[in-house]
Amino acid sequence: MNLILLGPPGCGKGTQAETLRESRGLAWLSTGDMLRSAVASGSRIGRKVKAVMERGDLVSDDVMLEMIAERIGEPDCGQGFVLDGFPRTTVQAEGLDRMLEAAGRRIDRVVEIRVDDDALVERVSGRFSCAACGAGYHDRFRRPKKDGVCDNCGGTEFTRRDDDRAETVKTRLAAYHERTEPLLPYFRERGVLAAVDGMAPIDEVRREIDAALRKA
Ligand code: AMP
Repeated sequence: MNLILLGPPGCGKGTQAETLRESRGLAWLSTGDMLRSAVASGSRIGRKVKAVMERGDLVSDDVMLEMIAERIGEPDCGQGFVLDGFPRTTVQAEGLDRMLEAAGRRIDRVVEIRVDDDALVERVSGRFSCAACGAGYHDRFRRPKKDGVCDNCGGTEFTRRDDDRAETVKTRLAAYHERTEPLLPYFRERGVLAAVDGMAPIDEVRREIDAALRKA
C-alpha cells in the first residue's frame, strides 16, 4: 500500500508515519528529513536548499522530484511507502503520478490530518528530538518517560529544528495554505482522499487512520 499523509507543519504527519512504518512495514519517506540530512552532509543539494529551508519557504519542484524519484526506486519501497511532506505543490503531485504510473504503481490513499492553525504554532515550537536516534518528542504532548533520557535509545542529548521558531512556522503555514491545500481537490477527484481529526490524541488519530486505510 502506498500512502500520502497530507497536512500542515505540526499536524502529526511524522508521528503517524513512524507508527505506520512499525505496524505495516511501510517505508517512511520524509522529504524534510531527507533535506535536513542533505544540508548536514553539505552535499550539492544541501548547499542549494539550506537558505530556503531556513526561511520556511518551499524547495523547488525540480529538486524535490529528483530526490523522491531516486528514493522511491530503492528496494525498501517495494513493499509500500508512506510519504510525509511530499507532494507539497500541484507540480509535485502530477510528477509523482507520472513517475508511479510509469512503474505500474499508484497512490492508494491520501490521508489529510486536519488541525486548527492556532494549535500548530504551539505544537511546532514545542518539538524536539533525540540527537542520537531522531525519536521525536514534545514539551507538552510527548515527553520522554524519564526527563532528559530518550525512551528509544537512552540518549541524553536533544535538538530542536531551526525552522521550528514561531516566526518561521508562520511562513511554513502560509506555504501550506497557498501551495499544498490546493492538492486536496486534486486527490478528492481521484477518489483516494480521506480526512482525520488531527486535534484528537495521538492514539485516536492512529485509529482513525487505520479505519481510513481499511476502506482503501
Ligand atoms: P518538513 O520537515 O516536512 O516540515 O519540511 C521542512 C522544510 O523542508 C520545509 O519547510 C521546506 O523548506 C522543505 N521541504 C520538505 N518537503 C518539501 C517539499 N515536498 N517541497 C518543497 N519543500 C519541501
